[in-house]
Amino acid sequence: MELSGQAVPVADPRLETAGFYKTSGLKVTKDAEGEPPAGPPVLCVPPDLPTYRARGHRRLDVRTYDTNCTTCIWGCRMPVEMIIDHWNPSQKKYRFETFCYGPKSCALYRPGPARKVPGRKGMSYTEENWVDEDATSHRGPND
Ligand code: SF4
Repeated sequence: MELSGQAVPVADPRLETAGFYKTSGLKVTKDAEGEPPAGPPVLCVPPDLPTYRARGHRRLDVRTYDTNCTTCIWGCRMPVEMIIDHWNPSQKKYRFETFCYGPKSCALYRPGPARKVPGRKGMSYTEENWVDEDATSHRGPND
């Protein structure tokens, strides 16, 4: 499906929940025909949020996301909150990270480098692979 319309990008995406505002004049210029290709990327209608939460996610390489996954229902780029000092949980930082909620067997999937999370007094914590394995351990390779 192809659409046309007008919208204004938000001034600072770090401070907004949406990417655009003041959207108007939306028109379908080319309707979808037949079934979408099987993928990946998976192009069908996305499921509801509880389904995403139940599936769990794995980290996704930023370049892979930009190249292959922006149209996939299982790819996402979202803000994450980092608690810098667990003795002082009000000390937080935010950044964007990319994730895949899709089947573990996807041939396009690349995890990218392990993520480092800043910690107290200049220390940092590396998020090892077991974090993603644990989050998706209830799913088989093709689920
Ligand atoms: S890696 Fe994940 S987000 Fe990207 S195409 Fe495969 S299933 Fe979709």
